[in-house]
Amino acid sequence: MLVRIKGAISNCYLLVEKRPVLVDTGAPGDLKRILAVLRSHGLEPAQLALIILTHGHSDHAGCAAELRRRSGAQIVLHAGDAPLVRTGRNGVLAPQDALGRIVRPFVDEEFEAFEPDMLFRDGFSLEPHGVKGSVIATPGHTSGSASVVLGSGEAVIGDVLRGSLVWPNKARDHYFCNDPELNRRSIVRLAREGLLRCHPGNFGSFPGSELHRFLTTDGNEVFELSGRPV
Ligand SMILES: [Zn+2]
Repeated sequence: MLVRIKGAISNCYLLVEKRPVLVDTGAPGDLKRILAVLRSHGLEPAQLALIILTHGHSDHAGCAAELRRRSGAQIVLHAGDAPLVRTGRNGVLAPQDALGRIVRPFVDEEFEAFEPDMLFRDGFSLEPHGVKGSVIATPGHTSGSASVVLGSGEAVIGDVLRGSLVWPNKARDHYFCNDPELNRRSIVRLAREGLLRCHPGNFGSFPGSELHRFLTTDGNEVFELSGRPV
């Protein structure tokens, strides 16, 4: 079972399995919310099997160091984002649109630096950790962005795309993307997985069919500044 944990500005996800796995750790300050969700499922931090980060931005890696101290769980990250978490800084945060330029000052915060326990490049199997699924590289948003693809047909995709601020079940370009062409290839890679449901780092989840729509129509009504697409 995959449980969404809504942080101050982003989602992280708790995979409730025989040994639970946390995917992303929110922004600095989201610790209480994460611990509360663990508790609501009868879980203590020490029961976590792994902490997987979809990438090294502050709203995903923000509580990773503290959660590792409390849980003893190892942190898994794609090697491409190791420089970000080693410095506790987001690095380049390239806006994709006007909204990205507006929100950047509010989301670009520093976080506690740490050394990841396990770095991977192509992929990382979760089977040895009791979870049917794997982590695959889906770079573009950052060079070390990755997605957790589960045997259930669900995937936690970090900031490859975001959900919609307004419309349920819709995918949108994320506010920031350092390499849009590489990100597009990552969307293709995810689309080939035949996913049923995608769980993004911002806003609500959407069906896997949104990946195909995104690739064939170029996505996006884009701006939601007025509260609805234009
Ligand atoms: Zn990000």
